[in-house]
Amino acid sequence: MIDAVALTQELVRFDTRNPPGDEAACMRFLAALLETNGFDVTLSDFGINRLNLVARRGDGPSPAFTGHLDVVPLGSAPWTHDPFGGEIIDEKLYGRGACDMKAGVAAMLAAAIAEPDAPITLILTGGEETGSNGARALAESGALPAAALLIVGEPTAGKLLAGHKGAFWLRASTHGVTAHGSTPHLGDNAVYKAARAITALEEFGFNHPPHPIMGSPTLNIGMVSGGLNINSVPDAAEFTLDIRTVPGMSHAHVHEQLAFTIPAAELTTLVDLPSVWSDPADPIMQKLAAAYHSATGGDTPPTSAAYFTDASILTPALGDVPTIICGPGDPAMAHKIDEYCDVAAIHEAVEIYRAILRLT
Ligand SMILES: [Zn+2]
Repeated sequence: MIDAVALTQELVRFDTRNPPGDEAACMRFLAALLETNGFDVTLSDFGINRLNLVARRGDGPSPAFTGHLDVVPLGSAPWTHDPFGGEIIDEKLYGRGACDMKAGVAAMLAAAIAEPDAPITLILTGGEETGSNGARALAESGALPAAALLIVGEPTAGKLLAGHKGAFWLRASTHGVTAHGSTPHLGDNAVYKAARAITALEEFGFNHPPHPIMGSPTLNIGMVSGGLNINSVPDAAEFTLDIRTVPGMSHAHVHEQLAFTIPAAELTTLVDLPSVWSDPADPIMQKLAAAYHSATGGDTPPTSAAYFTDASILTPALGDVPTIICGPGDPAMAHKIDEYCDVAAIHEAVEIYRAILRLT
């Protein structure tokens, strides 16, 4: 048996800020811990000091648990608590990644070790915070073993979620011809083209019905830039699109709709992660809900996460297995200054994961 709270503290003390990532030392530490406890462990690199880890115990398709070891930067405001200290004050464990999601990783390891007879696969990734590049490398390597279902330990405040929206991020660029600012008729202003495109997108309709749980797809223009100085006609401008899609939507089709709506803009895809949704009426999902109930005494209505996870890559790579997101910590704490996870939530997550492992 290992103590999930102490393990969370140890994981927080590894600086795995992404960028640059540097998950390797933390992954090797966990690989040694898992090997000592009877797991077959494979480490695979996806860059300098970047590692993914796959650990297996037992044969055949087993429940797969996944978590990421990278964390986001600290932010510009000072922290009250050491972001890499893992200190516990008033039953809160502080540190960057305490909530997102080293507590979740520690809880799944503790549960796996506490249920030694259960077959299980652990998929620990790096690079999640910058668009799931670690998970993508794993999926493309073909190194993922067969799995019966997937549990993503991202913070859900202990709730059991059945999916999340997809993320489709793009850069739109417009081009023109430069000229002196006193003779704009001699140039072709790229900023006007970007402005017209942005205005057109404010009215953009996806022509897709809302999902009963997730609602409608959304589009946000987050950044705009263009021009060199005050007295030149700009020959280049660009802006970014953050599109969140719902199940049933094809990102390729959305791309076609955008190209039709803003023909003057050249589109470059930055992030392309599909939505994830498992039908709560599926028998495996019902069993997972029953396991959740047996561990917590509570029920959780079918709902979805606001953020995306590695499941966008891993669920299809594992053959579209039933997928839930369930982990310790309040998702509102993720990426914040003085991030923390309640100690009680870590213990509760261990109990939920153990109940899931006892299903098999
Ligand atoms: Zn996360």
